[in-house]
Amino acid sequence: MPKITSVIDKANKNDLEKSYIEALKDDTFKKYVKSLPITEETLMKYTSRLEEACHEDDNCKKCPSLNHCQNERYGYCLTPHKDEKTITFYYQACPYLRQKEKDEAYQQNIYLFDIPKQVRTASMKDIYKDDSKRMDIIKYLVQFCKTYTTNPKQKGLYLNGSFGSGKTYLIAALFNELAKNGVSSALVYYPELLRTLKESFGDDDFQYLFNRIKRAPLLLLDDIGAENVTPWSRDEILGTILQYRMDEELPTFFTSNLTLEELEQHLASSLSGVDKVKARRIIERIKQLTTEMKLVSKNRRN
Ligand code: ADP
Ligand code: MG
Repeated sequence: MPKITSVIDKANKNDLEKSYIEALKDDTFKKYVKSLPITEETLMKYTSRLEEACHEDDNCKKCPSLNHCQNERYGYCLTPHKDEKTITFYYQACPYLRQKEKDEAYQQNIYLFDIPKQVRTASMKDIYKDDSKRMDIIKYLVQFCKTYTTNPKQKGLYLNGSFGSGKTYLIAALFNELAKNGVSSALVYYPELLRTLKESFGDDDFQYLFNRIKRAPLLLLDDIGAENVTPWSRDEILGTILQYRMDEELPTFFTSNLTLEELEQHLASSLSGVDKVKARRIIERIKQLTTEMKLVSKNRRN
């Protein structure tokens, strides 16, 4: 008499075979499994999972772009892989996703600190060229970009202009362009940097953040002049960053709603009194590090 276990095995095998044969009635499935370098004996153990994989593969074949992905995991296709006598299934990134990751790899060279994520896609070719007033700035950026690799010791810009005129966008476009050539940079919203540094003062976090920003090959201090000035933030933080960058000749950019004269007044008056000499010293450093330019433009914000 056959052992009970072998009877059950046989019954299971029959069921597996039956559902596999049933699934083969679907032409797409039939074509799909025939294309796999796996024997039928193994395939029939995985009918339902193979049906899922086949369905995903079919979605991919009809898919015009990543935005149209219909699969369980966005940008991935469930794929069978032969392992001796078994099949394992894994999620394989689709060509659209792989291309996107390749196109966006440059973004890893850019450190954003409290800056809206959309600047990641700012690009030199998309800069508005509709008003002549920004042409000098564009020329400066194009020249900077062209010559940076042979001469990284260049002056940055002090970009002054009204709210929403596109200051941050312009510098982000330059940094993105250079990031595509492997240049690292940091874009930092200056008022928030001060708050975070103040909170973490004395910690390892403080040193890490402070050094990362101080030493970034390209640095944007965004919206300087919008912060609350204290002697500590002006002299110990800003003063030290600027001194380091002057010594190392690292390009440094600023955006501000204030002109340099207005910034000087802003820096002179802190909560603990007026200190014109210290403010003057900071402005001298900014002048050494940058060329001042004005961006006059309408508000581009929606
Ligand atoms: P600012 O820093 O001067 O306040 P932003 O750089 O933030 O201004 O620009 C304001 C808005 O306009 C943002 O949403 C930005 O993405 C958009 N913007 C500015 N310049 C461009 C451009 N050339 N192409 C596309 N969007 C732009
Ligand atoms: Mg801005």
